[in-house]
Amino acid sequence: MNPWKNAQQMLKQVGEKANINSDLINILLTHDRKIEVDLPLTLDDGSTKTFKAYRLQHNNWRGPYKGGLRYHPQVSEDEVKALSLWMTIKNAVIDVPFGGGKGGISVDPKTLSKPELERLTRSFTRELVEFIGPDKDVPAPDVNTTGEIMGWIADEFGDNAVVTGKTLEDGGSQGRTEATGYGGVYALLGVLESMGIKPAGLTAAVQGFGNVGTYAADLMVKSGIKVVALSDSKNTIYSIDGFTDIMALVEAKAKTGSLAKAVKELNIKCEVKDVNYVLGTKVDILAPAALEMAITKENSNSINAKIILELANGPMTPEADKILTDRGITIIPDVLANSGGVAVSYYEWYQNRHKETWTKEQALKKLEGQMKASVSDVLAISKKLKLTLREAAYVLALNRLAEAQPKK
Ligand code: NAD
Repeated sequence: MNPWKNAQQMLKQVGEKANINSDLINILLTHDRKIEVDLPLTLDDGSTKTFKAYRLQHNNWRGPYKGGLRYHPQVSEDEVKALSLWMTIKNAVIDVPFGGGKGGISVDPKTLSKPELERLTRSFTRELVEFIGPDKDVPAPDVNTTGEIMGWIADEFGDNAVVTGKTLEDGGSQGRTEATGYGGVYALLGVLESMGIKPAGLTAAVQGFGNVGTYAADLMVKSGIKVVALSDSKNTIYSIDGFTDIMALVEAKAKTGSLAKAVKELNIKCEVKDVNYVLGTKVDILAPAALEMAITKENSNSINAKIILELANGPMTPEADKILTDRGITIIPDVLANSGGVAVSYYEWYQNRHKETWTKEQALKKLEGQMKASVSDVLAISKKLKLTLREAAYVLALNRLAEAQPKK
């Protein structure tokens, strides 16, 4: 399973099915620039270790390259290639004036001390200095990168609009923490409305209890949806009555280290199951919010949901997508469902450049409007051309990219 192969396959399939100009598809199957560097780091004990780092700039027709930086041992050229293409598509779907980029360092940040992590980040920034900037390429946090790390990049570069996802003290935006999870639920509510379904009383299962999964579960509960299953990397917790206070679980998990221990600490009656139980739970809505390729050909038949809200990037393989679509399951695709994060990143970039500070209410209200507008654009294309929501989201993005393509 290679994410770049999956990303290429998806783009080609949609291009053929929706009769998109093949020259456009072929351009989008390439990247504008690949930056690959070896970063030598002097460790605290005086020894040296070298790490591979990448920044892939996919496309900038609609604006500066934009996308996260991931610190993870699995970071590879192919992973970053897929993620940067998805950013181009996503930014066009949510209609922010950005292109697509992505980067990362192949490192397990948990093995480094904080000063080592800061030196590594600053050294990567120096390698990128001529390629990034508020009008060129604007990185952001992704897996294992934080607001504090973005602050080091901004400081090394010398302009805080060069990155988004910063802490509030460093010029971050209110609402960025909630943005991806909440944005996903705004998209879900838009789709439910179009189906004439009220959220109250529906049931949901959320895989992944990190930033995205927790805020999505929180807003689901606040919207009247019963969240019956939640999982982290160790277990699934299941309660037929639903979990009601998600933020209390977040606090208890931070204190105890796992969801299984958190429910004990809070005296919540529920069943503790194995980690993958969440995927097969009988629910109305399943939201994968952990890592890529959680749903594959092998486990897709065990899925027992009517709607899948793809909060993670690339949480299912193209084969699984086909099997689930054929079974009549509605899939709200990642390029739409998790675009709330980059929408609020755009608000941050805008506020930094215009010396404005918005309230959380302002940012989230705007996000809700923007998510619902994109949902309605995607639904209209899906209905008109008889396409799945994923295909329709790609068509929307490809049309917007074609409009922005420089005329030679
Ligand atoms: P995170 O690191 O905060 O959380 C990920 C969670 O998934 C962790 O709780 C981890 O324990 C859990 N997990 C890992 N493997 C698991 C497994 N096998 N089963 C169940 N849980 C497992 O990351 P995040 O920021 O919440 O991102 C989650 C996903 O959403 C990623 O795919 C990321 O690329 C995507 N995403 C994030 C944002 C954002 O703004 N944070 C924006 C768009 C997309």
